[in-house]
Amino acid sequence: MDYTAFFHDRIAALKAEGRYRVFAELARHAGHFPAATRFVDGAPQPVTVWCSNDYLGMGQHPEVLAAMHAAVDECGAGAGGTRNISGTSRHHVALERELASLHEKEAALVFTSGYTANLTALSTLGALLPDCLILSDELNHNSMIEGIRHSRADKVVFRHNDLDHLESLLAAQPRERPKLIAFESVYSMDGDFGPIAEICDLAERYNALTYLDEVHGVGLYGATGAGVAQRDGVMHRVDIIQGTLAKAFGVVGGYVAATPEICDAIRSYGQGFIFSSALPPAIAAAAQASIAVVRRTPALREKHQERAATLKHLLHEWRLPVMRSPSHIVPVLVGDAARCKLATDILLDDFGIYIQPINYPTVPRGTERLRLTPGPHHDDLQMRRLVEALAAVWRRLELAAA
Ligand SMILES: *Cc1c(COP(=O)(O)O)cnc(C)c1O
Repeated sequence: MDYTAFFHDRIAALKAEGRYRVFAELARHAGHFPAATRFVDGAPQPVTVWCSNDYLGMGQHPEVLAAMHAAVDECGAGAGGTRNISGTSRHHVALERELASLHEKEAALVFTSGYTANLTALSTLGALLPDCLILSDELNHNSMIEGIRHSRADKVVFRHNDLDHLESLLAAQPRERPKLIAFESVYSMDGDFGPIAEICDLAERYNALTYLDEVHGVGLYGATGAGVAQRDGVMHRVDIIQGTLAKAFGVVGGYVAATPEICDAIRSYGQGFIFSSALPPAIAAAAQASIAVVRRTPALREKHQERAATLKHLLHEWRLPVMRSPSHIVPVLVGDAARCKLATDILLDDFGIYIQPINYPTVPRGTERLRLTPGPHHDDLQMRRLVEALAAVWRRLELAAA
């Protein structure tokens, strides 16, 4: 076999479809988000970032940076091992306490990423529970799908947010069979919410555990930023809350918060936890500082919501096809992979506006889109420039208006 030719062909197929991924090489400027410098063959170009998941700009917050600097000076660069073999620092322990307290649970467990948290927690729970059935929303993130797959438990997929479908699947099972419902609070590509209270009702009625991915909710919703479940007053009813430290908290890492028994089981049996080195202590310290700031600063969340509403309004005014989204995520429909990529190339090269195209398999074919994530640091002038640039690109490529 000609291995090189084989892999070359696989890549050529992606390119022919217009969904070959090209990374923008960026230097974000601490203190000046969303401003960044993009490097094209080494040459710098100033850009404004419109697609970051560092929703609140916590990655440049002075308290976060100070905590990270101090912990590096105190503990050095890396953790030095897995959590079990010399890698647990006081910063990890304090971070887990902070997370448990944020979600009003008794325990939390930190992972190297939100992806690993989902992969490990779901694969461990599904494998440990005897004859477990996992009920999974059809739009669940890849990290949950892979976690469920690795568990080798039986899985059924329910139609997105369809409570009747979920109930019919639950009702078909013996009450005593272990069941786990896996879903999200904010679906990150469409920006719609999961019906958390109603799913908890069903879980109680049919004796199931609930596993909620709050990755796009934590920091952003609820009185102290614990997520949509907190906003909805149902956080105590969700058995396992999973989140990331890399999006609204602006650092890196993932976690679950649950009972001490569930966290201890994942800690003790979860391979992606046991066999991987701990996060650097400075990351843990920075994440904890970020959570503390976000918890006590509702103004950040108010500003975030205001910025999203303002941008949606502006897009409407300019007849750009903003997709209906009740959350902070602002998707704009293009509907074609090649033109989605072309539109973002023009925005970047000609207007210094950086938006990554969202194509299949992240979203279904025909719904390719731009996914805008306005935040407290995008000002009115930047919004105006964005909308004018989008309108110019829409005209140039003859894309459909709203
Ligand atoms: C980004 C994301 C993850 C993974 O989190 P990371 O910390 O980036 O690994 C998990 N679930 C959802 C819904 C996500 O969007």
